[in-house]
Amino acid sequence: LTLSVAAILAESAVRHANRTAITLGPNSTSYAELWDETRAYAGALRDQGIGENDRVAILIPNVTDFARVYYAILSLGATVVPIHALLKAREIAFVLQDSSAKMLVCAAPLIDAGAGGAKEAGVPVLSVLAPEELGTDRLEDRAKAAEPIDTYLPRHPEDIATILYTSGTTGKPKGALGTHLALLEQTNVLLQETFEMRTGDRIFGGLPLFHTFGQTTVLNSGLRAGAEILLLPKFTGDDALNLLLEKKVQVFLGVPTMYVALLEAIRDRDERPESLRYAISGGAALPLTILTQFEERFGARIHEGYGLTETSPVVSFNHVGRDPVPGTVGTALWGVQIRIADPSVPDRIQALPNGELGEVVIRGHNLFSGYLNRPEATAEAVVEGWFRTGDLGTLDDDGYLRIVDRTKDMILRNGYNVYPREVEEALLEHPEISNAAVYGVDDPTRGQEVAAAITLAPNSTLTAEAVIDWISQRIAAYKFPRIVEVVTEFPMGPSGKILKRELAAQHQSKS
Ligand code: ATP
Repeated sequence: LTLSVAAILAESAVRHANRTAITLGPNSTSYAELWDETRAYAGALRDQGIGENDRVAILIPNVTDFARVYYAILSLGATVVPIHALLKAREIAFVLQDSSAKMLVCAAPLIDAGAGGAKEAGVPVLSVLAPEELGTDRLEDRAKAAEPIDTYLPRHPEDIATILYTSGTTGKPKGALGTHLALLEQTNVLLQETFEMRTGDRIFGGLPLFHTFGQTTVLNSGLRAGAEILLLPKFTGDDALNLLLEKKVQVFLGVPTMYVALLEAIRDRDERPESLRYAISGGAALPLTILTQFEERFGARIHEGYGLTETSPVVSFNHVGRDPVPGTVGTALWGVQIRIADPSVPDRIQALPNGELGEVVIRGHNLFSGYLNRPEATAEAVVEGWFRTGDLGTLDDDGYLRIVDRTKDMILRNGYNVYPREVEEALLEHPEISNAAVYGVDDPTRGQEVAAAITLAPNSTLTAEAVIDWISQRIAAYKFPRIVEVVTEFPMGPSGKILKRELAAQHQSKS
């Protein structure tokens, strides 16, 4: 028996007892308070019959209770199943059933969908943040009546701490099993040599905590470091900017769409967040124009990293403290191996020489231990011990990784491969285009056609025709978008990524 992910909070509660762990609006919670409240919640859950290896689902936005419930479940030696906050009752029922969840802990603002899903799945619900009038079974009330647990239960390294469901781009969502070892080792390595996250740092907490990116880099790393996490339950560029300015945030972590929103928010403002030391981007490709504009306007460097749910998530990083190499996602994390595999031999891992384009494959301490209930999907994803990411990339002689695109986003037009990311980068060079998403749509003669959805800078009167005309002068005929649509917003996934499959489906249904 060794440590548990719950040790992150338990140990920090001793080391940093009186420091602020989490701030949400006007409310701050110290490390000691957070651990005491967590132990009380754990006592209540234990009284409800939750124990070792049980699975408990949680449907909670970025509020302090997310941390309390998350660590309370882990303290009991049980497994946390975080549910994406945007899911509908039907989808929630699927996750509850697929994971054999014994209980759902649901925040009041999400209770309609949560209770609906739980009813369908036959799973009992405890609420948090619910006013008494709602008549729900409240975890807070149960905690008052319960004896708090003394401390957390130690775990084996291979025991499962979390089951994180992928968003299901292809078929039904799959539950990725995250071990205590992978989660703890990630946090330790990130803090030791990748992030400069220090005790007392004020870090931005707008990345959704139910997603692997926010859970590892904000929640677990932030609390392990003894930092103060400034939670933002619903991200908007203006709210995020105000938080950066008012709370003097020192470390910003976000996905590319958050950087676009921040740039828009700061456009007509004079001030800038002087406290910001550096920023971290991941989750999707960060366009170079966005990176440059952000660094100029905010006066802080962006360090881009790369990862996936199945790799807990960080694979590579432009380590903080070294000059980032823009356009790359940095070098492998300590203890993580990256190879570029020949895609023409899918059932074996055959590494390609540096510089050649192939599928990124990963091996290391950060790997998940498979998809729950899906041995075939696991066998397809993990070949000879290597995890196949489904991303296309190259490695250079210094070990820097470049992600070219996802295999499944690649467009095949008239027999030519078109990489959406390259076309997006080109579109974003237009000063009036604020964001762009390029995707393939079915075409009877060419197989697929290249389409783009764009958002415009305020007051821009740019038309789709003018954009097509402009871009056709700048990139080769086989890859410039023939279809351009000006939109006011993009369909967005729960972790802040643009949903290209939805854009393609919308286009298809219109034509
Ligand atoms: P699903 O697996 O259900 O489709 P998802 O792919 O969004 O959902 P995540 O694990 O959140 O699931 O995302 C991992 C993917 O995000 C990677 O495979 C990669 O395509 C993309 N990604 C992450 N970081 C970067 C980056 N820095 N540059 C380019 N792509 C990135």
